[in-house]
Amino acid sequence: KELPADPIMENYRRQVSKACFSYVNPIRTKNPEMLHVTDEMLKTLGMTQSFSESSEFLQLFTGNKVKSETQPYAMLYAGHQFGNWAGQLGDGRAINLFEIESENTSWTLQLKGAGPTPYSRSADGLAVLRSSVREYLCSEAMHHLGVPTTRALSLAFTGDEVLRDMLYDGNQEYEKGAVVCRVAPSFLRFGSYEIFAAQQDDETLKTLVDFTIRKHYLDLGEPSKETYLAFFKEVTQRSLEMVIHWQRVGFVHGVMNTDNMSILGLTIDYGPYGWLEGYDFGWTPNTTDSQHKRYRYGNQPEIVLWNLLQLANALFPLIDDAAALEAILNDYRSSFRTKYLEMMRSKIGLASERDEDEKMIQELEKLLHLSETDMTLFFRNLGHFEKEKTSEGIGNIEDAFYSPSEVSEEIKKQWAEWFLKYSLRLQFESVSDSERKGKMNLVNPKYVLRNYMAQLAIDAADKGDYSLIDELYTLLKKPYDEQPEMEKWFVKRPEWARNKVGCSM
Ligand code: AMP
Ligand code: MG
Ligand code: MG
Repeated sequence: KELPADPIMENYRRQVSKACFSYVNPIRTKNPEMLHVTDEMLKTLGMTQSFSESSEFLQLFTGNKVKSETQPYAMLYAGHQFGNWAGQLGDGRAINLFEIESENTSWTLQLKGAGPTPYSRSADGLAVLRSSVREYLCSEAMHHLGVPTTRALSLAFTGDEVLRDMLYDGNQEYEKGAVVCRVAPSFLRFGSYEIFAAQQDDETLKTLVDFTIRKHYLDLGEPSKETYLAFFKEVTQRSLEMVIHWQRVGFVHGVMNTDNMSILGLTIDYGPYGWLEGYDFGWTPNTTDSQHKRYRYGNQPEIVLWNLLQLANALFPLIDDAAALEAILNDYRSSFRTKYLEMMRSKIGLASERDEDEKMIQELEKLLHLSETDMTLFFRNLGHFEKEKTSEGIGNIEDAFYSPSEVSEEIKKQWAEWFLKYSLRLQFESVSDSERKGKMNLVNPKYVLRNYMAQLAIDAADKGDYSLIDELYTLLKKPYDEQPEMEKWFVKRPEWARNKVGCSM
C-alpha cells in the first residue's frame, strides 16, 4: 500500500507505468484439491494443522476465495533474458494474496498458477502439476540445505486441464493444473528496478528503492545516496553468498534472467532447474539454452555478476557515481575467489588454509570431469577417507563413477596421485578422521532432489498417489543426516533418467 498502484482495475494485458503493481483477482478453479502442505511453513506462519485441513484453507490457497480485508495484486517488473533486454514482464502467473507478520518477519503469500494478470502477455497464467511439484519440493529442499530461498506453503490441484507444448515433439497436450502457494519476505527482483530505469521514471524508482530499504534493509539507515550504495553492496554480497551455496550443493538454476534474481538474495523461480549428477561445469538442465549454455553450472557465478551490473545500471540514476558502483562489482570477483575456495576447502574437510589448497582443488575438479563422477555421492563418500590409508582412497569414491569400466588406468593413476597429496595435506589438519567426516557431512548433503526423483513423484501424483511427494519432502528436510531406511535415494541417477529433465512450465 506504500507503493503506487496501477489505477486500472480490469484484468487485461497491458503496459503499465508510474506504478509498481496491479490489483487482480485469482480465477476460480473447477475442482480444487489440496495435495500437500508443508508443516514447517504452516507453523512459521502461525497456522494450525486443523486450519490446513479446512475447506477455508483449500479455497484460499487455490485462489477460490479472497479474504475480505485483502486485495490481491500482481507486480510489475522487466528483465534481461538470456543477455537481452526483454522489456516489461511482470507477474504473469503469480498473484500476491496478503502478508502475514510472524516470527519477526513479514511474509508475503503468493499463488503461482492462479490465472492471468495484466502481465501474462501471450500466456495463460496457469501452472501444471509438473512445474508445481518441482517448485514445491525444491524450494523447501533448498531451505533445508541451508540455501537462501523462497519457501512453499501448499501444493494443490485446480481440477482444470491446462494445455502445454510438449518439448520432445512440439505437440500440445493437456496436463493437470496446479497451484503452489509460495512464501517469501519479498518477491522483488532486479527487474523490478530495471523497469523504472528503462521508463526513465526516477521518481517511482526512488519510491521503490526507499520502500525496499525501509522494509528489508533497515540496518542501512534512512535512504540517501550513501544508503543506496550500501544497499547495492549488500545485494551484491547476498547474491554472492547465494551462488556459492548453489555451487556447493550442485544446484543449477537454469534461467538466471534478471527477472529471476531476488533483491533479497534468495533463490527464486524454480523452472527448468536441475541438480548436478555427473560433476560438470558445462552442464545446464535448460534444453532451450543447450546451444550457448549461458546458464551452465560453471557460469553461474559470472552470470550473477552480469545481473548485478544490470542492477547497478538501474540504480545509477539514484547513485550517480559510476566509480563507486564499479568498485563494488570489481570486489565481487576477488570475494568470489576467496569464498569459493573456502567453500571447497570445507567440502574436502580442510579447516586450515595452505597455499597449495587452490591447486589441489582445481586438480580435483579436473579429475571429477575426467571420469563422469556423481557430485553428491563423491563428496559424501570422500568423508570415509582415512588419511593413513592412502591406497584405499579411490575405493571410497568408486561408487560415484557413472561408467567405472571406462575409467582408464591413466585416470586411476591420477586419482591415486591426488589421494596421496590429499592425505599429506590432511597431516596438517588437527582433527581426527572421524571428526573431519562429521564436519564434511554438514556441508556435503547426502540427499538432494535429483531430477528423476521429482519426476517419479510427479508421475505418481498424476495417477493420484501423493505419497512420494510426502516421502521426498520428509527426506529432504534432513539432507545432511544419515537416514538408513532412505538409503535407496542415496544412489546415482538411474540410466533411464539420463538427459531427462521434465521442465514443462
Ligand atoms: P520465467 O522464465 O518463468 O521466469 O518467466 C518469465 C516471464 O514469463 C515472467 O513474467 C512470468 O510471469 C511469465 N510467465 C511464465 N509462464 C507463464 C504463464 N504460464 N502464464 C503467464 N505468464 C507466464
Ligand atoms: Mg520468473
Ligand atoms: Mg517461472
